[in-house]
Amino acid sequence: MEQADQVIAKTYKRFPVVLSKGSGCTLYDTEGRSYTDFVAGIAVCNLGHAHPAITKAVTAQAQTLWHVSNLYYTMPQVDLAAWLVKNSFADRVFFCNSGAEANEAAIKLARKYFSERGQNHRFRIITMEQSFHGRTMGTLSATGQDKIKKGFDPILDGFDFVPFNDVAALRAKIGPDTCAVMLEPVQGEGGVRCPDSDYLKAVRQICDENGLLLVFDEIQTGMGRTGTLFAYQNFDVEPDIMALAKALANGLPIGAMLAKEQVADAFGPGAHATTFGGTPIVTAAALEVCKTLLEGKVIEQGRKRAEYFREKLLQLKKRHDAIVDVRGLGLLLGIKLNFNAESMVSQCMQHGFFINCIQQNILRFVPPLIIKEEEIDALVGCLDELLREKEK
Ligand SMILES: *Cc1c(COP(=O)(O)O)cnc(C)c1O
Repeated sequence: MEQADQVIAKTYKRFPVVLSKGSGCTLYDTEGRSYTDFVAGIAVCNLGHAHPAITKAVTAQAQTLWHVSNLYYTMPQVDLAAWLVKNSFADRVFFCNSGAEANEAAIKLARKYFSERGQNHRFRIITMEQSFHGRTMGTLSATGQDKIKKGFDPILDGFDFVPFNDVAALRAKIGPDTCAVMLEPVQGEGGVRCPDSDYLKAVRQICDENGLLLVFDEIQTGMGRTGTLFAYQNFDVEPDIMALAKALANGLPIGAMLAKEQVADAFGPGAHATTFGGTPIVTAAALEVCKTLLEGKVIEQGRKRAEYFREKLLQLKKRHDAIVDVRGLGLLLGIKLNFNAESMVSQCMQHGFFINCIQQNILRFVPPLIIKEEEIDALVGCLDELLREKEK
């Protein structure tokens, strides 16, 4: 830890623990302690740690072919794209290496789509307050949180912000230069905020009426996290463009930007590229992840665990006035507390649980979808105990 603090960039405030091994929903540190993982690499390891089928797929691919340029065809990339197309609204996939890159590709495609139609002036994208879209210059400019942008002026022009769940504000913000609306179907980092019942349908309708593209950032909500393969399937609304990343390869770095044919068509040869995007090892891993999640019925199982977890949190809320809200969808769950809850993360760690705190007073729970009822019970018991002590 001391050496890390000397040689690694100071961008992360880390907890004093060195993790060395993981299996299922359990992580182990170098001191031999174990933890139940309700963070999962921030909604990345949806199948848990060291999943045997994924390890097998990666090992087999590592013994065969690691990397060639996108100048050539490789089978794992084609198979993954075909699977994603078959199981989503989209017709084409662009592969990259992270969430921010997937959103960058989405932003570029939205602009290119109108540029191809001789409407270069239409480049403005409406995004949401409290949104999170990434840390590159483009995606931090799209992000609706000042703390992410501080010190990086000039911020990229072309983003307008409206409050999430506010249909009238969205209508009012549309101008002659607007090309798209971009949002997370459920806001993750911004506070685990769900859309009101007809909000996403209204957004779709507004986009259609105004000829705007609808972009869903499903980097956190995708891959079974909210109880369906993609969150938009919960709301009966389809986007034109979607960004994926986090759980797509269960921990190997990958991003993907999916689009309908008519939109994807704006990206011709040379319009966009990346060296590592869709490389064989990562796409072989992702394909196995996809099959295990859907065909292996892990999403279905996760949905049941999510109902159980939510019920336990609602019961916990009844026992503690400090909990002012239980929120989220599927296994993207949060509880809002009426005090600064950051210290609860370390306290839970001391009791053998990893959890996450966002916006200072919201505890976020994003465990692997294979989390067991006993593991949920144990965490809720720990939270119960900690809150009881606090209330004394
Ligand atoms: C994590 C996240 C990103 C950024 O992904 P990176 O891989 O860290 O670049 C963007 N949007 C959402 C909704 C996210 O949760």
